[in-house]
Amino acid sequence: MEVKNNLAVIQSEIDTAVAESPYGQQPTLIAVTKYVTIERAQEAVDAGVMHLGENRIEGFLDKKAHIQNVTMHFIGSLQTRKVKEVIDNIDYLHSLDRMSLAQEIQKRATKKIKCFIQVNVSGEESKHGIAPEDVQSFVQSLSEYDNIEVVGLMTMAPLDATDDAIRTYFKQLKQLQLAVNALGLPHAPCTETSMGMSNDYKIAIEEGATFIRIGTKLVG
Ligand SMILES: *Cc1c(COP(=O)(O)O)cnc(C)c1O
Repeated sequence: MEVKNNLAVIQSEIDTAVAESPYGQQPTLIAVTKYVTIERAQEAVDAGVMHLGENRIEGFLDKKAHIQNVTMHFIGSLQTRKVKEVIDNIDYLHSLDRMSLAQEIQKRATKKIKCFIQVNVSGEESKHGIAPEDVQSFVQSLSEYDNIEVVGLMTMAPLDATDDAIRTYFKQLKQLQLAVNALGLPHAPCTETSMGMSNDYKIAIEEGATFIRIGTKLVG
């Protein structure tokens, strides 16, 4: 299937979900291109998607080098020792989840990096992310790091969760994002929520997602 056909289907579903959402906000669509070639990623850009997401350094740098005029999102977990290879190429990092990573970003970045704090709302042991109850203090402890701007919170729902459970997790993330936003911290506007993938983006939008990350259904 051509990306532009997939995109048309997704866009109409996005519009429906926005209309049903109390937040009523069009989310930014990130095409997750981690499974596909540069050519296929370029097809998404040509179809009008201006944001690309990758979860591994090699794929990220490959797409970054070959595709012009896109905003690049790093959505995977980032090893501290790899930060220097990639950080200045990142427009948005979706996986800030520990102090040691923040320290390394501060040390290596030569510009301010827009960061999402990854939150483990489901409490799954295998998942990366800060526990919900620790998010506010974590964000507060980043105030000294002037290369980090906390633009929002990110989460992933467990693969085996029911729609009701997914909705609960997304609601929780939204409430937490609003609570951090209400702190009024200069380094943490926290106006955004990155949540929703191919199988759950409609729920995410209904619950106030401002960035959705879609791979399989768009380019797969
Ligand atoms: C792979 C991935 C996605 C996209 O997943 P799909 O189910 O293919 O849409 C979104 N977010 C993250 C963090 C991912 O690793």
